[in-house]
Amino acid sequence: MSVPAPQNENILGYGPGSPEKKEVKAALQELMAEQFEIPLIIGGREVKTGNLGKVVCPHDHGKVLATYHKAGKEEVQLAIESALSAQKMWQTLPWEQRLAIFLTAAELIATRYRAKLNAGAMLAGGKTVFQAEIDAACELIDFLRFNAGYARELYAKQPQSSQGVWNYTQYRALEGFVFAVTPFNFTAIAGNLPSAPAMMGNTVVWKPASSLVYTPYFIMRILEEAGLPPGVINFVPGAGSQVGDVCLADPNLAGVHFTGSTRVFHQMWKTIGENIASYRSYPRIVGETGGKDFVFAHPSAEIPSLVTALVRGAFEYQGQKCSAASRAYIPQSLWDRVKSLMLAQVGRITMGSPVDFRNFMGAVIDRSAFESITGYIDFAKEHKDAEIIAGGNYDDTTGYFIEPTVIVATDPEFKTMVEEIFGPVLTIFVYQDEDFVETLELCDKTSPYALTGAFFAKDRNAITLAMAKLEHAAGNFYINDKPTGAVVGQQPFGGGRASGTNDKAGSQANLARWVSVRTVKETF
Ligand code: GLU
Repeated sequence: MSVPAPQNENILGYGPGSPEKKEVKAALQELMAEQFEIPLIIGGREVKTGNLGKVVCPHDHGKVLATYHKAGKEEVQLAIESALSAQKMWQTLPWEQRLAIFLTAAELIATRYRAKLNAGAMLAGGKTVFQAEIDAACELIDFLRFNAGYARELYAKQPQSSQGVWNYTQYRALEGFVFAVTPFNFTAIAGNLPSAPAMMGNTVVWKPASSLVYTPYFIMRILEEAGLPPGVINFVPGAGSQVGDVCLADPNLAGVHFTGSTRVFHQMWKTIGENIASYRSYPRIVGETGGKDFVFAHPSAEIPSLVTALVRGAFEYQGQKCSAASRAYIPQSLWDRVKSLMLAQVGRITMGSPVDFRNFMGAVIDRSAFESITGYIDFAKEHKDAEIIAGGNYDDTTGYFIEPTVIVATDPEFKTMVEEIFGPVLTIFVYQDEDFVETLELCDKTSPYALTGAFFAKDRNAITLAMAKLEHAAGNFYINDKPTGAVVGQQPFGGGRASGTNDKAGSQANLARWVSVRTVKETF
C-alpha cells in the first residue's frame, strides 16, 4: 500500500501582475470588507457563548477583522465529551481513509484556499506575503502531505515472526483525547498540532492562541470540507484558565501537543504532574517552546552570507519565530566589515502594513508583545554594557511597530544576550579571534534553550569543533545558513533543553508519540 510520495509545495513568487498576487489582493479586500463571528466548533456544531474576543490587525489595531466566541468551562467539557464519543468511529476507520481526509485538505489549501489563508495570515498575523506563503500555504500543506507519508511508513513497520509464531504490532490511538494548544506565529503549526494526532486515530480538543484565532478557524473549516467527521477535532478558543484547566484536570487526557511559551509549558507540565494519579494513562507531553538562537561566526566565515543570515534570521516576521537569530558571536577580525554591511542592510529595511506588499517587516502581534519587547530595548538604552547601533525606536499609535534593533553587548551574559525576547532585537557579542574555543563554550554554557543555531565558517576543522562543542545547544544546527526556515521533510524541527521535548514537528518520531502500540504474539 502506498500513498502519493510527498513533495514540498512550490513557493509562489507574488511578483507584480502575477495571478497569485491578484488572488491574494482580492482575498485581502474580501476579508477586510466583511467582519464575521467565529463560533466554537464542538462535535461539528457551531456553539456561541456570547463572551466575545476581537481579532484585530497588528499593523492597525483599530481595525476589527472578526469577533470570536470564547469557551467557558462548560463548553470545554462538552468538547472533551464530543472528542471521547467520536473516538470509536474515528479509530476504527481504516487509516487510509483517515489520511485521505488530510491529503484532501492539503489539496484544498493548495488549489482553493491558499489566497484566503495567506491573506488571513497577513492581516491577523502581521505577515508579509512571502512570510505568509511559506507558512500558511507551503508549510501547512507540507505538514499534511509528509505526515500522511510518515504515518503509512510507520504502520508498515512490523516485527519478525517465525515458524508457528506470528508477531505483529497494532498502532492504536491513545486511550483518551489529545489537547492541542497552538501558537500565534505559525498558521502551519496551528494546523499541524491538532492534525498530526488526529491522523493517527486520536480525537482532539484544540485551543488556538487568543492572538491567532483567525487562520486556525479557516483551517478548521477546510478540514470539515475535506470530510473530517464531527467531534474528531473540536475547536475551542478561549482563555488558558478556562480551556487549559478543564482539559488538564480531565482523567481522559491522553496527550498534549503544544507550541508556545516556556512559561506556559512549565505550568502545564506542573499541573499534569500534580494530577498524575488521576489520569487513566500517563499523558504524552510533546512541546516546542522558546529559543534564544545563535549565529556564531568563525574568522574564516564568508561575510555576505553571514550578514544575510543575521538580518533575515533576526528580522523576518519581526523576529517572532522560536528559531529567530537573537544573539550573535562575531570575531573581532570580521567585525568592522560585518558591522558596516549589516547596518547598510538594516538601514534599507522597510516596515509598515503588509497589505501594500512592499515592506520587509510588519508590526508585532499585540500590545503585550509590544510592551515586553520594548522593555528589553529600554533596558539596553539605560545600560552601560550595551550600545544600540541600529533601531531602538517604536511606535504603537496605529500598529505595534518596533524598529529592527541591533545591540552590541560587552558582557556576553547581558540580559538581551541570554533571555528570549521574541521580537526584532538582535544582540551581538564581539569576541577576540584567539578566544574562539572559549567563546564556543560560553555560547553553550549560556544557552538555557537549545532550539536552533547557525555556525559560519569555511574552515572544516572549525565546523567539526563547533558541532562538538555545541552538540546540545541546538536541535536544528545550520552550517553556513540562517537558523530560521526549516522545511518539512528536509529539516525536521525541534530542540531540547528549555526549548521543548524535541519530538521533531513533521516527522515519524512525532507521529509515534500519538500511538500506543499493542504487540500481539499468536502461536499456532
Ligand atoms: N519552524 C520555524 C522555523 O524553522 C520556526 C517555528 C517556530 O517559531 O515555532 O523558522
